[in-house]
Amino acid sequence: MKEITINWHILEACNYSCHYCFAKYQESDRRELHYSKSKINLFLKYVYDFFSKKYDLVRLNIAGGEPTLSSHLDYIIKKAYGFGFKVSIITNGSCLNDDFILKSVPYLSMFAISVDSLDPEINKKIGRVVKGKTLSPVQLIQSLKEVRDKNKNILIKINTVVNTYNCDEDMSVFY
Ligand code: SF4
Repeated sequence: MKEITINWHILEACNYSCHYCFAKYQESDRRELHYSKSKINLFLKYVYDFFSKKYDLVRLNIAGGEPTLSSHLDYIIKKAYGFGFKVSIITNGSCLNDDFILKSVPYLSMFAISVDSLDPEINKKIGRVVKGKTLSPVQLIQSLKEVRDKNKNILIKINTVVNTYNCDEDMSVFY
């Protein structure tokens, strides 16, 4: 079976400021489509029609910035699923809420979350902090449990960027 994954960085904005972040646009002329439902529809249809002729399975991986900051994220996920994409997301997990889990998780085949440290001080040094608050391991595990409860077949993926601040950390307790 021929498969392809398309990464759609739906927006540049993020509530974190990881020092290694590369998800920055080079141009000031930003034309983010996620604000407009009609543009989202056109884009998804075009991409699906194009790739589904050549591949048996087309996965749309939604990324950012932080995609959960888009007010149209639920719409994008549901629409992409409706067109025939397999849909996945990569998130920093800081803005997950019941509404997202209820409305969007059933349409996802993969849920990827970035976890660089379980230590709040290390997360602060990396830049994974909002107004002095970091995401606790307890919150994180609870969110993952809710994701799994809502979709038994979903694949859960943990992404870690090994860097100067976390390179000596043992995260095996989490896994
Ligand atoms: S969470 Fe991701 S998008 Fe946000 S600052 Fe960190 S690396 Fe960049």
